[in-house]
Amino acid sequence: MKIILRDGIDSAAIHHIEQWLVTHGCVVHRLEQDGRQTLCSIAEGLEIDLDQVRALPGVDAVARIPHSFKLASRAFRPADTVIDVGGIAIGGPEIVMMAGPCAVEGEEQVRTVARAVRAAGARVLRGGAFKPRTSPYAFQGLGVTGLRILRAAADESGMAVVSEIMDVSQLEVMLDYVDILQVGARNVQNFTLLQALGQVDRPVLLKRGMSSTMDEWLMAAEYIMSGGNRKVIVCERGIRAFGGSYTRNTLDLSAIPVVKQLSHLPIVIDPSHAVGVRDKVLPLARAAVAAGCDGLLIEVHPRPEEALCDGPQSLRIDDFAALAEQVRRIAEAIGRPIAPPGPAPGPRGPRG
Ligand code: PEP
Ligand code: MN
Repeated sequence: MKIILRDGIDSAAIHHIEQWLVTHGCVVHRLEQDGRQTLCSIAEGLEIDLDQVRALPGVDAVARIPHSFKLASRAFRPADTVIDVGGIAIGGPEIVMMAGPCAVEGEEQVRTVARAVRAAGARVLRGGAFKPRTSPYAFQGLGVTGLRILRAAADESGMAVVSEIMDVSQLEVMLDYVDILQVGARNVQNFTLLQALGQVDRPVLLKRGMSSTMDEWLMAAEYIMSGGNRKVIVCERGIRAFGGSYTRNTLDLSAIPVVKQLSHLPIVIDPSHAVGVRDKVLPLARAAVAAGCDGLLIEVHPRPEEALCDGPQSLRIDDFAALAEQVRRIAEAIGRPIAPPGPAPGPRGPRG
């Protein structure tokens, strides 16, 4: 349930309410919203009498949260969550473009892409150093060397970094190099990993699993948030459907308005993995912006035919510049800015 506390309530009174809830078996989270203290009390499987809670001194209003996800729900937090990544606001008015290669393959590749996508208006550099591959014989990523390359290229171009964490054992090193920790589609229900990410103060980009329902996906976000880390960005990347060999997955555009209604978290769209075919990335990116996403995550490679991973869906550098130009016009039409082309002065990311 959501409990709104009276204005000016002192900490002893808050403590008393929290204690009452805890002794009745609830888990309690506190959040300040619009200058008012609110509590999110989770009473899974318990019958708590709301009137009894209403009668506690200092309680102003009480409402049930009608979903299994609580902290992630808009019912608990009506205002959009805006996540600051070294001066880049994700979930605010600006649509943030994130772009880069599927996998970090070498210095020249990443620096070339970083400069080009930054010049086209991307603010976040993507690139996998630990790659979840279907085949154990496929390129598995450069590991820590890849993270170093990614960080250096992002710093040089004044960008933030997003990269995938596959396992808890990688967390410590990832925190040294990465501004946004990506959880891949295959790990969306790796609850041990989600719990570990709940313990850190670093934004997480949480992909939707290829067969996740919206509820399962938002419950994965809830795992991270219930640990204390409220900086979750959800990312739709296509689900398994009936595209056959024509599309890799099917982009679920309805995820945008549905997540916006159910949750206050920012939502990013990854049309690259959704469709898996280069020439179909642009129309889906346009549609995603029109439908109200907060950001795009796009794979770009200087020579896609030589890419060690996901070449067929990777845009060429010129394609990305064209995409940026087109989505910028759509964003303008719906009243949302996108960073202009050309490196902008300003913050270089938390580690920059
Ligand atoms: C990726 O972004 O490189 C990736 C592996 O994505 P997903 O987890 O969505 O397949
Ligand atoms: Mn990829």
